[in-house]
Amino acid sequence: MDLAPPLLPRRRAAIIWIVIYALVIAGPVLLVRLTQPHQGHQGFLQDLSNNLALAGFAILVLQFVMAARIPRLESPFGLDYLLRFHRAMGLLAVLMLLAHPIMLAWGTGRWWLLTRLAVPWPVELGRLALLALVVTVITAVWRQALRLEYQRWRRWHGRLVVFMLVLAFVHSLVLGVGGRGRGDLAPWPLRAVWIALAACALGVYVYHRWFHRFYHRKILHTVTSVKQESRDVWTLTFAPVLPVGRRVHSPGQFHYLTILSPHVPREEHPFSISSSPAAGEGLASTIKIVGDFTALIPKIKPGDRAYIRGPFGRFSYLVASPDKPLVLIAGGVGITPLMSMLRHLRDTRSRRSALLVFVNRSEEDIIFREELAAMEALDHPQVRVVHVLSRPSVDWRGPRGRLNRSFLIELLRGQVLEKDYYVCGPPAMAEAIILLLREIGVPPPNIHSEQFSY
Ligand SMILES: Cc1cc2nc3c(=O)[nH]c(=O)nc-3n(C[C@H](O)[C@H](O)[C@H](O)COP(=O)(O)OP(=O)(O)OC[C@H]3O[C@@H](n4cnc5c(N)ncnc54)[C@H](O)[C@@H]3O)c2cc1C
Repeated sequence: MDLAPPLLPRRRAAIIWIVIYALVIAGPVLLVRLTQPHQGHQGFLQDLSNNLALAGFAILVLQFVMAARIPRLESPFGLDYLLRFHRAMGLLAVLMLLAHPIMLAWGTGRWWLLTRLAVPWPVELGRLALLALVVTVITAVWRQALRLEYQRWRRWHGRLVVFMLVLAFVHSLVLGVGGRGRGDLAPWPLRAVWIALAACALGVYVYHRWFHRFYHRKILHTVTSVKQESRDVWTLTFAPVLPVGRRVHSPGQFHYLTILSPHVPREEHPFSISSSPAAGEGLASTIKIVGDFTALIPKIKPGDRAYIRGPFGRFSYLVASPDKPLVLIAGGVGITPLMSMLRHLRDTRSRRSALLVFVNRSEEDIIFREELAAMEALDHPQVRVVHVLSRPSVDWRGPRGRLNRSFLIELLRGQVLEKDYYVCGPPAMAEAIILLLREIGVPPPNIHSEQFSY
């Protein structure tokens, strides 16, 4: 029985969200200009400054919405795409909001806004908000270069953005209404829109941060098994405590896991789902030890509880064409979403063919080896597995070294086009493979990739 639902039709839902997004950004500016036409005559620079502030604040509000992992919003785009967009819009908002005081000082000749230390308190709040925004963006974009540990950075990112939004809201409302009630935000409908925008951002933040407390019963799972796959890779399998409410995943998607065990910190981490949604097997994630949190995975015991949020992402062979042969290329633990796809092909006795190129360091690092060999013996689906090792033992008879152009073309038997390619692995390896695929002539829409890092 095939339980995997097709992912939401992308184009229509995406267009609706893009229109809503554009309307929210342009809405306040349009409302001000339509309801107060006289405001458009304060001089070009002053008007531009106000428009930048109005649109910049709306972008900040939407940043909260995009980071909240709302399933209906995430589904047409994929979470990695949304987070990349979130990052780009954060940069744009900083530029717009930095330009706001400069344009204002320039347009009105009030340079003291930029130069004087002692300024009226609403202006002071604006300065602080801008400072908080700049710090937020710098620490987000250069987190790794600044050596900020992910969980600590995430906690401070959350606090800083709320602090910044509250300051920016008070600053804009007080100055927007204006001393004699003649500012852009003076009419009550505009004030109502402004308050609604800020309330929306904070509401979404509360939903995101405290979601577990409201919905915990729906997303609560029990660990049913803990299996060691290799020296440093473990598979955890889960069953929902209440057999209702969970969305069935599509093979290749991922979820967020929070383990409730005294041995493991209560942190949320993303992991691909390695199990197939067909045949009713448990929900599994296969996890490699790479840092503080994953090092504690072996301490988890059957019977421990976990919150699981998801599924997320669009990395699934169900998204693209329904019948093209598949080429799956995995590096190390990057096999996990591809394993879910292969298991789903097997469980649904699919007639599609799949070539799996599985790159590892050594024989000991190969996980799922027997299961993959058993799949190769099936008539449907037709699966071919090629193991490539970068540092094999002297006894290894298979391909060794890196995947290169000529070897890849040989594996594809010269037939590069009319295939769907799925690549997953460490970011450097995935990027190198994508480049290689483009070099040998694979059309970009046929290349799908997931990287285990945002
Ligand atoms: C979409 C996706 C799917 C993934 N699927 C798998 C999988 O199937 N198997 C697997 O072993 N790993 C997977 N990962 C990677 C996994 O999330 C990280 O290895 C894990 O979170 C590292 O945590 P740590 O504390 O042990 O290591 P750390 O040393 O703390 O982190 C290593 C790096 O992982 C990233 N990271 C850490 N915590 C988080 C977090 N809470 N959210 C997002 N990124 C974080 C950061 O970039 C960090 O620099 C996936 C990641 C993503 C984004």
